[in-house]
Amino acid sequence: MSLKFQGIGAAPGLCKGKAVVLKSQKIEWSSSSIGAADVDKEIARFNKAVETAVSQLEELANQVAAKVGEAEAEIMRAQALMASDPGFTEDVASRIAQSLMSAENAVQQASEEQAKMLEGLGDEYLAARAADMRDVGRRILAALTGTADRAVVLGRLQPDTVIVADDLAPSETAAIDIHNVSGIVLDKGGRTSHTAILARSMGIPAVMGLGTATEDISDGDLVIMDGNKGWVVVKPEDDLLKEFDEAIEREERRKQELSVLKDLPAITTDGHLIELACNIGSGQEAGLVLDAGADGVGLFRTEFLFIDRNSPPSEEEQFEIYKQVLSQLAPKPVVIRTLDAGGDKFIPYLNIPDEENPFLGFRAIRLCLEEKELFRSQLRALLRASTFGTLRIMFPMVADIHELRAAKREYEIAKAELESQGVQVADNVQVGIMIEVPSAAIQADVLAAECDFFSIGTNDLVQYTMASDRGNPKVAHLSDPFYPAVLRLIARTISEAHRHGIWVGMCGEMAGMEPAVPLLVGMGIDELSMAPASVPRAKEIVRSISYEEAKAIWEKVRMMTDKDEIRAYLEGLVSR
Ligand code: PEP
Ligand code: MG
Repeated sequence: MSLKFQGIGAAPGLCKGKAVVLKSQKIEWSSSSIGAADVDKEIARFNKAVETAVSQLEELANQVAAKVGEAEAEIMRAQALMASDPGFTEDVASRIAQSLMSAENAVQQASEEQAKMLEGLGDEYLAARAADMRDVGRRILAALTGTADRAVVLGRLQPDTVIVADDLAPSETAAIDIHNVSGIVLDKGGRTSHTAILARSMGIPAVMGLGTATEDISDGDLVIMDGNKGWVVVKPEDDLLKEFDEAIEREERRKQELSVLKDLPAITTDGHLIELACNIGSGQEAGLVLDAGADGVGLFRTEFLFIDRNSPPSEEEQFEIYKQVLSQLAPKPVVIRTLDAGGDKFIPYLNIPDEENPFLGFRAIRLCLEEKELFRSQLRALLRASTFGTLRIMFPMVADIHELRAAKREYEIAKAELESQGVQVADNVQVGIMIEVPSAAIQADVLAAECDFFSIGTNDLVQYTMASDRGNPKVAHLSDPFYPAVLRLIARTISEAHRHGIWVGMCGEMAGMEPAVPLLVGMGIDELSMAPASVPRAKEIVRSISYEEAKAIWEKVRMMTDKDEIRAYLEGLVSR
């Protein structure tokens, strides 16, 4: 009988294969302590093991750089630095010298304590680095005890293998032969773990966080999985298998068809260019934007840098992330949105009061304009990073010109402060706003006169226009951007932006909806920003129509009064 499990979709794609279950690697050693006379010998043994680990990691980094990419190889290089970091090596040496521990025990305890410390900082990114620390500890232990590396097993798997493991260390993932491994299923892990990042870069579908996959799945079991939706089926029945095989074939064909578009522009048949950009929530996703063949980042949701921790990221921490994204994508533009906290994005240390209606409350730019220090440190970090690429700064939830002016004042203060300190700031930074409150769309003319661009946030624009909470399933039917009232606000925003000579994009979910693409092009949108996976298809749609046809589509939709009729008509245009 087949069994279905639901986990976290960590790397997209469908795959089928035979399970190879990897139990956690046991490295054995006797835990006896050492005599005082053996301290120097034990420290020398430890130093030698560190040397071995570092050279293994450097070699692995070179392999990964050639096989996957330089950014991924950095993970191994960072691990090599962790292994030889004095904070770690001195800790181990002092455990050996002072507590007369064996090198194995000292490494085990020191690496585990450092990993726990990283996990305890309440930061998702640093918690993910705990896996790197444990990986480093395991590697040094393997060198000390002469244990065979699990990575070697991973490099010798048969074709069409689905790896099932409790967890995979990043270095193990990097050692995988991508021609033989079709999928990864893990008990642990999440989307931001390095293993997930590597799996995505290597194009291997992965489902993580399943809890007991290593117990429920046996060696040799046939497994099918969907890395987008995060499900895994073990021993699928014939009907399901047939259906799945067909879905894989369809996906493959589509990928092939779409891959030829990667380096081509999103241009209509009559030469009208649309900028196709991506929405990201972390620095690590920048690589996906390039892989998708996108023209830049249309929305970097910086609130994810503030979530799941006990205090805001420092100016320095933010600067490093913005700098990395801007340089990785340069000269492509990157729209970085200032902190959009509040609503459903709860950040405990910001002391947002309990509110009856958080979505209508103290959030986004409203909060930043009161928490001046927080806002200024983000603006300083952004401006310092501005010389590393093409930066566009965007303020969220602007409802009125007073807010735009106040936010721009803060921007000018941060800029003047930096310049007075001799810090260089790029002179081509654009400053724009999200159009996601109906008042902003209605007054688009007033706002357009005082900023460089608009990006329409349909997720909030729909909820405020239709008075339907975007997270409430009871009113989900009202959360539809194809309502004529919403379309009129979008059209107005675009035409007013153009009348004032500024560009206008869209970064709400609507931008990546296939039926919306011809309509938005016809309305005159300049940029569409979406999940990287949606870019190839959106590009195909743009390249398949003429601007004149798209305008005619909007003219037709403009006359329709029923959103179901609008949807049906638009879906008909893009159905394949
Ligand atoms: C939006 O509201 O459409 C938007 C892009 O912002 P968020 O989804 O982060 O609120
Ligand atoms: Mg929003």
